[in-house]
Amino acid sequence: MTYDPNNVFAKILRGEIPCNKVLETEHSLAFHDINPLCRHHVLVIPKGSYVSLDDFSARSSEAEIVDLIRSLGEVARMLGVDASGYRIMSNHGHDARQEVPHLHFHGCGGEDLGPMLRLPK
Ligand code: AMP
Repeated sequence: MTYDPNNVFAKILRGEIPCNKVLETEHSLAFHDINPLCRHHVLVIPKGSYVSLDDFSARSSEAEIVDLIRSLGEVARMLGVDASGYRIMSNHGHDARQEVPHLHFHGCGGEDLGPMLRLPK
């Protein structure tokens, strides 16, 4: 899949639209989801142009991978959910209903999140 530079997260990275920033590092950006599904719902994205985890896992540098994983843990600690618990998810492609074609990890916490997955009826 070709990367679409006009996706909403690319626009956030270019500063064309605002975000509610939580953390910025050399290779990653974390900001609050505009439509939170739980008390704390943060998106952590690489600054590089990667469509999804499939793309990132194949093409990214080790520095980018380390930065993104460290950012996920750092954001959880910043939000104070490291002790109570949290869930990290990333949707890739059609079956996962990925909406924004720029890799993002959903970090969810701050309350009991229920079962891991509920399939639509
Ligand atoms: P996904 O279905 O995994 O692609 O999730 C995309 C997520 O991006 C959804 O949870 C949206 O609420 C979120 N989102 C879309 N636009 C924005 C935005 N401008 N700022 C923050 N989050 C956004």
